[in-house]
Amino acid sequence: MRDNALELAILPGDGIGMEITKPCVELVQIALRRAGEPEAVEKWLEAGAGAYTKLGSALPAETIDGCRNADAILLAAMGDPEVRYPDGTEIIPQIDLRFELDLYAGVRPVRSVPGINGPLADPCGNELDFVLIRESTEGLFASVGKGTRDEDHATDTQVITRKGTARVCEFAFKLAQQRKSRGHLGEVTSVDKANVFKSMAFWRDVFDDVSEGYTDVSKRYGYVDAVAMEMVRRPWIYDVMVTENMYGDILSDLAAGLIGGLGMAPSADIGDEHAVFQPCHGSAPDIAGTGKANPTAMFLSGAMMLEWLAIEKGNENYGRAALFLRSAVDDAFADGALVSTERGGSAGVVEISQAVEKALATLQDNDPRLA
Ligand code: ATP
Repeated sequence: MRDNALELAILPGDGIGMEITKPCVELVQIALRRAGEPEAVEKWLEAGAGAYTKLGSALPAETIDGCRNADAILLAAMGDPEVRYPDGTEIIPQIDLRFELDLYAGVRPVRSVPGINGPLADPCGNELDFVLIRESTEGLFASVGKGTRDEDHATDTQVITRKGTARVCEFAFKLAQQRKSRGHLGEVTSVDKANVFKSMAFWRDVFDDVSEGYTDVSKRYGYVDAVAMEMVRRPWIYDVMVTENMYGDILSDLAAGLIGGLGMAPSADIGDEHAVFQPCHGSAPDIAGTGKANPTAMFLSGAMMLEWLAIEKGNENYGRAALFLRSAVDDAFADGALVSTERGGSAGVVEISQAVEKALATLQDNDPRLA
């Protein structure tokens, strides 16, 4: 191990978490080696419903410290419907971590993998490439653990602040600028409900204020209900979308459905100091231990982590490692023969991991996608 090796905090969590994390970490290490970097130092940390049962804490202080000190955090999935807090709510430390580390931008890329046809009849539906940015520290989720409930009445309050909205809109506009330089449209859509809620009209005003600093990027508005419809009718019109926490939670699952299911959808939660990378899906307790899980979303989250590290550390090799991993995923599925169980096929964790590892081994160093 060299001094400059990355240190990764790895939180496998619950359910299918461990099954998909092990092959993901192996692939990340192979990709780093192929890019000429030393293997990362792995810090495996406990968190989730299992940790709550065993240790009495879903997110032990040691785990938070380990995450703070790591270069990046790779998290699989947490929660188990059978394990709940005394008030009946589920264990969701992955959300607590977003507040703890101030991870305000939830990045949900929606990119079609060649060979995996989406559910839309229009062929454009198989060439999607847009990004949904979900505000991750406030909105309706600000009410987690704070809602009220009595016999006849329950409330959860949505919180939208100028600071919280401005920083996530800045993130979205900067991303649209970067994407424009790579040939994308260069447009941000505010997804809100500004026609009904005061908090959402305020959100849109802040979005407009931020947009004034990005005159090279165009903007569009969409009410969340209409956007849900458009995401089914013609999702290819979108480039970057930015939205409140709860709307983002719902629309990112809808978006996952457009690219082949939850097992194909990666994500990142990014702040100014830290970033967590995890698949969009949960711990899937219904298939845990059966080997049926699709680990691809986890692999693509690993690729996002390497891409983010390339910018953070100013090291192009990490970007190259990300391209190795993403191209290997594309190659594994390209001929259409590898079909995950969630899409009606027979390929689970082992088959998909082996196919991606084989594709990674056969990728040529001079492949044009790595340039
Ligand atoms: P959360 O609220 O924590 O996101 P959830 O309640 O939405 O979780 P998931 O755990 O994401 O639920 O599972 C939803 C459904 O999708 C389940 O039927 C599960 O088996 C399936 N699923 C989730 N992830 C995968 C995967 N990687 N491979 C195959 N099926 C999956």
